[in-house]
This record gives sequence, structure tokens and C-alpha cells, in this order.
Amino acid sequence: MIPVAFQRDFGGFDSKFLGITIRFEDPSLWELYVKCNSIGRNPLDVVKVGNEALRSGTARAFQVFSVVTTLAHEARHFHDSLLSPYGNHLFRIRTNAAINGLQSIGSYINGRKILPVPVTRWKQKTPDELAWLNGYWRKVFKIDEDSTPPRLSGDQLRLSKQTEAAYNMIKNLVRNPETDRLPYRFQPAHVFEASGILAQIQNVYTVFGVDHTNLFMEVLFKSQDASRYTLPLRILSSLFDKQKRPMDTAIMSIIIHWCIMGDYTIEKYGACPTVRFARLVDYLSKVGLPSPDARASDLYRLWTRDLKVVPIEQALENTLKVNERSLDTLDGFPSYHRETFADLIDTFRSRVSAAKTMKDLFLAIPDSYVRPYQHQENLSNWVAAPIRVDFIGSKLVSSEESLLPVFSIQTAIKLEDGKLAVSRAIMNGQTEGVKVIDSEKAASANDLITLVDFCFSDFCRDEPDFDIARRTLRKEGLFAFELLN
Ligand SMILES: [Zn+2]
Repeated sequence: MIPVAFQRDFGGFDSKFLGITIRFEDPSLWELYVKCNSIGRNPLDVVKVGNEALRSGTARAFQVFSVVTTLAHEARHFHDSLLSPYGNHLFRIRTNAAINGLQSIGSYINGRKILPVPVTRWKQKTPDELAWLNGYWRKVFKIDEDSTPPRLSGDQLRLSKQTEAAYNMIKNLVRNPETDRLPYRFQPAHVFEASGILAQIQNVYTVFGVDHTNLFMEVLFKSQDASRYTLPLRILSSLFDKQKRPMDTAIMSIIIHWCIMGDYTIEKYGACPTVRFARLVDYLSKVGLPSPDARASDLYRLWTRDLKVVPIEQALENTLKVNERSLDTLDGFPSYHRETFADLIDTFRSRVSAAKTMKDLFLAIPDSYVRPYQHQENLSNWVAAPIRVDFIGSKLVSSEESLLPVFSIQTAIKLEDGKLAVSRAIMNGQTEGVKVIDSEKAASANDLITLVDFCFSDFCRDEPDFDIARRTLRKEGLFAFELLN
């Protein structure tokens, strides 16, 4: 079992940020991460770190292996998101929602100081509830203003409705309403997590060794707390058990990858990773698991034919076409819009280009992507990821001179001794690979998307990034009144 006090999730893929996010609760773990991941590291030092960890008990060993290999896990999420039709679909909806939403927030505010959020919940209130909330807010916040939002019409109403519709689509994408009918109850994020964890298992093996990998897997597979990461993998592992075969993480990765490659433009919910996973597991339990040396492209052809779904090549081509159509629409905006949303549009443009690069490389040799070892050995071929680091509780304290060579600081508090307590920073360098994305613009796009999430999303209200949105609104002299239900 893992002690509860230990930080287990050092990453946490965030679809708003076009890059990788890593999180640290404890600055000493950040130092460990840097020591083992910096370009000039000594591989023998890293091995020493791993062996010492192995001798220091299960919990500490698991923590060290998790920290050191978190980049491999997150890099896999980043690439899966760029390559998969699901990831492209989600980012397209998010970008459009952000642009429509930012315009429509302006119309809700329109010279006022109060913005009740999320807008969707506010609009559902009855006249009696509105009157009560108005009175309550005026009394508690000592604001002499009617908080009832204006009646929207014309373009403003259209944009507001489109933004709300986009949030409904996002909700259904991340929490598939059909999934509850499946024999396995889980969501697309679990399938993507399985892909990340397979990459991490491979990385623990490559960086440290066999004993380290066994310990890492044992903790992951036995811990109830880690079930989010391992649910699909435990289902696959029981399939290997039933067929009396040793667990094969490369074959598992090929299976998981097929599940995230459904075509949303044609198959709608049928493309959902959970639906594909359930169908493929059912199929493999009847026909048997593939042999260890099977080629991914042969398996994909077979599974696509037998399960009667859109071939992956076609799904990728369709995704590319829809991406390019969306980009054309953004490029056709009047110039003042293009200037207002420049960072969002530029980030979307680089994402479309990154997705195309990933698609072409993947189709050339699918095994070089789907087998975790090959993916990691060839990192320099894939798209480089901007890296954002969150220090939970602003616990990284240092002088500005020592931070600037490493980071562009996004959020920090200046302490009395002149040092900075950093909570968010963007690393100056990116992961190994082809550089397509501008880190600063991706961070700026993330903040705009977060602001619109804060105003429109009626799920995930406990999102930690919402503090950024609250601060942004306060800077503009606005009070966001948050409705809990
Ligand atoms: Zn993950």
C-alpha cells in the first residue's frame, strides 16, 4: 500500500495546455527530478538514486521511480493527445468555445461589476431564486448592484448558446453518457492513463532495471488508490492470465492505442475509447491475444475489419481535414478578432501542424509509436512539448536570478527578503523533439480557455486553475459570484 501522505500523481494531463504539466508538492522532489532529467545528467548517478531508493522501502522507492519517470508518462499523454482524433476533437471544441465564450462574457458584463458563474446555472434560476440571490449578494458583499444578467439578443445570444452547447459536448466527451451501459464502468481518461502508465513502466525499466520495474508495477496494480491508472490494464492483465501468457506491456500498449484512435467525425460515440476498449477486449477474449512479435499495422487492419470500424488511416485523414477547416474559419475572422485572440489562434495553428507531423510519422511506421520502448528511443523524431511546472502551495522559494535561466515565471509571490515563492512556471527548454509549439503562447491560450471554463463550465468547479480566472476578473474590477448548484 502507498502511504496517503505521498504525492502519487506528479503529472496530470491538462487538455487546456498544449504541452506537459508536472506538479510538485515538495521542492526536494523537484531537485530529484532535475538531477535525473537534466541534459547533463550522469546515467550512473541516476542508477545510484534508483538503487538507494530500492533499499529504502517500498513507499520511498515508488515515489522516486514515479518522480524520475513522470516526464515519459506525460510525454505519452501529450503525443497521444496530438495524434488521437479524440484529442484533436477536444482541443478544437475548446478553442472554439474559448473564442465564442470570451466574446459572450463581454456582453454579460457590459459595464457591470457582477458576473454570476457558471452562466449556465445562473440562466436556469427561477425569478424567486434570482430575487433571493440578488438580496443575499448585496447584503453579504455590500454591493449595490442588481446582479441579474442582461437579456441577450442577436449575435450575443448566438455566441452564448454556442458556448453552452460546446460545454455540453465537452462534458459528454470526457464523461461519456453511454459508458454506464458497458460491462466495465470507466471513462476515456482511464484509457489515456493506461497509455501513460505503460510508457512509464517502460521508462522505469530503461532508466533503473528489472527489480525497480517489478516494485513499481506491484504497487500500481495492488493499490486501490491507483485504480484510476490501472483499471484497463488490470482487465487486460486478467486476459493474459486466462490465456496463460505472461503480461506483455508492448502488446498492451498496441491494444490501448487502437482504442484511442476512433473516428469522431463519422462514428460519434462509437469512437469513444471506452466503447472501443470494451469491444476489443470482448473480441480478444474470443479469438485470443496477438503474438508478441505481431506488427501493429497488421493487427489494426484485422481488428478494424472484424469490428467494422473506420480504418485508423482514414480517421487520421478526416481529423486533419476538420482541423484545417477550423483553422480556415479562424483565419477568416475580421482582423480585430484575429488580434484579440492571437495567442489562441496561433496555438491552434501550431497544434494543427503538430498533429499532422505526428500523423505522418506514425503512419510511416506505427510500431515506432505504439511500442513504448521505440517511442522513447525515438523521442527526437516526435513533436517537442512545452513543459509547465506547478509547485503546489508556492513551495519553490528562490531568487529571481537563479530561477530565470531555467523558467519563465508565470505566478509567484515576492517575499520580504526579495525571493520569489513560485507556484507556476514554464520551462525555458522543451522536451526532446521537433519544435512546433511556442511555450509562452500555449500558456497564454491556456489562461484564456481557463477563464471561459470558469464562466461556462458547470462541471469540475474545483479546478485549481480557476484561481487564475478569479484573479484575472478581480484585476478587471469584476466580482464573480459562484453558484454551487
Ligand atoms: Zn497520466
